[in-house]
Amino acid sequence: MENNYYPFENTPLPYAYEALEPFIDEKTMRLHHDRHLQTYINNLNKALEDFPSLQRFSLEQLLKCPMLIPPNKKDAILNNGGGVYNHRFFFENMTPQSQNYPYENLNKAIIHQFKSFDCFKNEFKRTALSVFGSGYAWLVFYNGRLKIVKTSNQNTPITMGFIPLICIDVWEHAYYLKHYNMRNDYIDDWFNVINWNNAENIYNKILKR
Ligand code: MN
Repeated sequence: MENNYYPFENTPLPYAYEALEPFIDEKTMRLHHDRHLQTYINNLNKALEDFPSLQRFSLEQLLKCPMLIPPNKKDAILNNGGGVYNHRFFFENMTPQSQNYPYENLNKAIIHQFKSFDCFKNEFKRTALSVFGSGYAWLVFYNGRLKIVKTSNQNTPITMGFIPLICIDVWEHAYYLKHYNMRNDYIDDWFNVINWNNAENIYNKILKR
């Protein structure tokens, strides 16, 4: 990820706002990227502005090593830093050119772990539906295998040692304008825009370690 150090900036989406139509609508993408993510970025910068000693750490370092952060700044930095990390991952994890199916090595691992792509999809969808309130569902790599996990609010899987491969934002702001309260329909639509190419690249890096 670029722009990984203070001061954080809202880097543009890697595709046009309307590019994910009809699955995710332009207005949602504009508000989600330009307002929701922007707010997390502004608040993270604000939380770090008086702490030059923290400004030399990358976003990942701050999230993975909360003991670096003074106790009275912990909530502001972890919540907003998580909001920045999760949203960037979510946006980069989508593409208008999705092939709707994982590539070679990740595909093999998914079939090995979940029996079939459809079984994986069902379990992922169940997990995303089961997030109570706001949060995310993720496919991660942990302890030598793939795993589906959920996180609440802006908690990030990297603080728990997981390596994320794909993720869906299930906060209502991610789908309410188009799908209203139908998280189920949103998840089905999102499956059409997953960037499996990115996920394969991350997975191949894990295999090379
Ligand atoms: Mn969001």
